[in-house]
Amino acid sequence: MQFKDVVGQPEVKQRLVQMVKENRISHALLFSELPGSGGLAMALAFAQYINCENQNDIDSCGECPSCRKISKLVHPDLHFSFPAAKIDKKAKNGWCSELLPDFREAVLQMPYLQLNDWYNFVGVENKQAIIREEESDVIIHNLSLKAYEAKYKVHIMWQADKLNTTAANKLLKIIEEPPITLCLF
Ligand SMILES: [Zn+2]
Repeated sequence: MQFKDVVGQPEVKQRLVQMVKENRISHALLFSELPGSGGLAMALAFAQYINCENQNDIDSCGECPSCRKISKLVHPDLHFSFPAAKIDKKAKNGWCSELLPDFREAVLQMPYLQLNDWYNFVGVENKQAIIREEESDVIIHNLSLKAYEAKYKVHIMWQADKLNTTAANKLLKIIEEPPITLCLF
């Protein structure tokens, strides 16, 4: 995902690029969006931009190894959390890791993914999907490790308001003083 693939919002793109140019990338960023305005797409474009090997003043190159891996959502330093639920056969514990292949596929098909799209895609139906307490331990562990190859390790938490309260409290410290770039929205 490049900035050019995100419709409109030139001011937001400019501010994000400026942050990189001035070498003052915040450790944690909150992307707040109106439904359908592409918050997830913007976060992905930003993750790609900061790790691009040939970034210019406007966008990532889209062609370097880092861009290719991030655009396919398979970069080893790009992590995701998202609302998950127990689903027969697919996710017996309701963990994000169990549904990660589905999440990648859903985002690749629908970069402007909304919660209902995700529920329909993965078959959550009426079950309440949340980001479970266990996820905070996984996130803290992942973020404590050095990046494999990226300039910036990135964790994107999609639909952060679905975060379990205990998990949110555990994550507060790492959000305040994270060892990496952390994108939340
Ligand atoms: Zn690139």
